[in-house]
Amino acid sequence: MTRRVDQPRAKFCPNCGKPTQSVFTGGRHRDTCPECGFIQYATYSFGVGALVLRDETVLLVERGIPPIGVWTIPGGFLEQEDDVYTAVQREVYEEASLNVTPQGIVIVRNRVDANRNDMYIVMLCEALPDQQPVPDGRESTQACFVHPHDFDDMNISVFTRWVVEHYLAHRPSPMQMMTVPGYRSDAIIFGNI
Ligand SMILES: [Zn+2]
Repeated sequence: MTRRVDQPRAKFCPNCGKPTQSVFTGGRHRDTCPECGFIQYATYSFGVGALVLRDETVLLVERGIPPIGVWTIPGGFLEQEDDVYTAVQREVYEEASLNVTPQGIVIVRNRVDANRNDMYIVMLCEALPDQQPVPDGRESTQACFVHPHDFDDMNISVFTRWVVEHYLAHRPSPMQMMTVPGYRSDAIIFGNI
């Protein structure tokens, strides 16, 4: 796929503040710091969403931040120190006040626009049966378990609707966290068994 996307620029080095120079490296010109060696590569973002099912219903939140008023699965961006497990648990707790246990990855979306290259993964999660969702009133203005029959009457995100309906129709087995003996302990590996 060919897209009109510009290489991100850095006129000044974000590390030391020196003016950068355009240097051909890694197959293209990139703003590079002559002082400390910083190279402006692509800008990325990484998000995670939670698919939380309860009986025949799914946890959705009504967004209080743009796009305001749209219903989606709960989720958000990863912080620098996050792995996807801790990020998805925090985001569901923030937006719906539910404690969840991630079961694995069921959907991955890659979206490229002029500003960034974004990856978003959807994790199947389990919530304890007796917890009731509560919105935080800021990021989420409502939080509840919804039956897919009610999607037609809601302002639901096209992608969220597809995620729920695709999962319920096909029940793909999630890519689960695996341990790789002898491999570095700071990496989380997902794979199918
Ligand atoms: Zn520098």
